[in-house]
Amino acid sequence: MLKSLFKNTLVAAVVMATSVNAFAADKVYRLKLAESWGPNFPVFGDSVKNMVKMAEEMSNGRLKIRVDSANKHKSAFGVFDMVKSGQYDMGHSASYYYKGKVPNTMYFTTMPFGMTAMEQYAWFQYGGGQDLMDELYAQHNLVAFPGGNTGVQMGGWFRKEINSLEDLKNLKMRIPGFAGEVLAKLGATPVNIPPGELYTALERNTIDALEWVGPSLDLRMGFHKIAPFYYMGWHEPATELMFIINKKKMEKLPADLQAILKVAMHKASYDMYVQSYASSAENWAEMTSEYPNIQVKTFPPEVLTALKKANDDILAEKAADDEMAARIIKSQQDYLKLVRVWTDISEFGYIQSTKE
Ligand code: CA
Repeated sequence: MLKSLFKNTLVAAVVMATSVNAFAADKVYRLKLAESWGPNFPVFGDSVKNMVKMAEEMSNGRLKIRVDSANKHKSAFGVFDMVKSGQYDMGHSASYYYKGKVPNTMYFTTMPFGMTAMEQYAWFQYGGGQDLMDELYAQHNLVAFPGGNTGVQMGGWFRKEINSLEDLKNLKMRIPGFAGEVLAKLGATPVNIPPGELYTALERNTIDALEWVGPSLDLRMGFHKIAPFYYMGWHEPATELMFIINKKKMEKLPADLQAILKVAMHKASYDMYVQSYASSAENWAEMTSEYPNIQVKTFPPEVLTALKKANDDILAEKAADDEMAARIIKSQQDYLKLVRVWTDISEFGYIQSTKE
């Protein structure tokens, strides 16, 4: 009798386990994502759409993610807080937007004179970058992942040439974030102006220069029509966006859906890097054929040397003030030293030695 009781209990347990599994396999999990961008924002917004579509397809419809753009949630720079609090499950934004709130977030987007996109991806995945990002974001009940890269951003559109350090004095430039701090050390005045007002500000000389992204997103802004000098970049060599997820909400998903979500984010970030590259090439061809007078410039060596020194001085101050900042900065600088030697003799060496 004992034996048959055991047998029946076992059968019941198996039946129950099977039905629970069947239930879990059918259950649809719905997540809400807040993005920092407006609706149908090219490239950045495409990365989100791409991720959502892949997650739904790979999960056979069990993972559905609703995307709210900035016009809906009205808080383009509040994504960090909205996901931390659980108002949204996920977000797509840029880590450095939150440096005013959590200073160490700024290291996970791009740094002036720092790594290129490929070097930085190597750092994230094989050089300890993701571990540091995990450590920082876990303090806020968040998990963050790379969310797509713009590649090297251009140094910006200038109405007048920059020939010396003197030309930076009192230069009013839209250049947000850490790079603005660096430029301010050399006497320039960094200003932040909403994207929709930038063209008019430049046209009316409210500002002398601005940086935005690169041809992929600059073309539609039209700055090339009013500022002929397009300077090469120094300040954002590899701007990486991020996906963030509320850690508790992530842990509540079944393991297979967590894995699907990670793969979708990973693939979407890679796709955005490729898309940025492709649309920059196409848009640059279009810009230069319509406006052949655009002049591509590099900043004079004395300007770049001074910018680099100001950059290093500020980083040293930040490292002295904050233990975690010191670890992140050291990790990035050590990795750059390691990886750049390879870049020099591989990609860079190849381009230089085969150039006609
Ligand atoms: Ca920029």
